[in-house]
Amino acid sequence: MAAKWVEALLALQKVDMRQRELEQRLALLPREMSELKARRDAAVADTHAAAQAARKIEAEIKNCESEIARLQDESRKLQQQSALVKKNTEYQAMLNTVALNAKKISDLESRVLKLMDDFEAGKAHYRKVKTDNDAVTRLAREEFEELLAFAEDVKKELARLRAERPELARKVDSDTMTRYNSLLKGKNAGAPLVKIENGICGHCHLRITPQAMNGISKGAVTVCDNCMHLIYDEGSEEL
Ligand SMILES: [Zn+2]
Repeated sequence: MAAKWVEALLALQKVDMRQRELEQRLALLPREMSELKARRDAAVADTHAAAQAARKIEAEIKNCESEIARLQDESRKLQQQSALVKKNTEYQAMLNTVALNAKKISDLESRVLKLMDDFEAGKAHYRKVKTDNDAVTRLAREEFEELLAFAEDVKKELARLRAERPELARKVDSDTMTRYNSLLKGKNAGAPLVKIENGICGHCHLRITPQAMNGISKGAVTVCDNCMHLIYDEGSEEL
């Protein structure tokens, strides 16, 4: 059995350590959530880009086709006009243009065939990208909702701990409480009250001085001479 002050302080410390753990966990949540949002946004943008790439090819096919139609129309008109032209040079110029158009049309038709292959590949790529990214988005949303629910649970538990604390704090004398609170607020200080294991301080791992061990055996509130943490020995009263 440990001294009474130890029991009271351990009960309080249990609440405070849990509270610290939960607050630290809660502090990580905003970053985790924004990471999930970023992951979802990247997936959505990636799908959008794949769709855009396919649409761009489709638009290029339409441009080629309308250019083919325009050239065909122009050639048809030139051929009709050429029958009425008297001057040989003018007639030759028209035939040259028609021949040039035929070459352009042939090139454009080859280009359209290639673009149609690209378009099929682009659509297949889009479907794959969309399937993959939809899964990423769904997972990110699920994880986000889990974090929201977790945050609610943590906040409820924190409220309960804060409500429990005053009653536990009342059982600790004010000098001990002052020391305990300052240790509690220290950065990365661990637990303010630590157990002695084989004569070694549970916080700084140095040997406890005989004077301090003597204080503990008398049931006095005792601190480690090295790290100033409150210390207790579970077997002290039986000695
Ligand atoms: Zn120590």
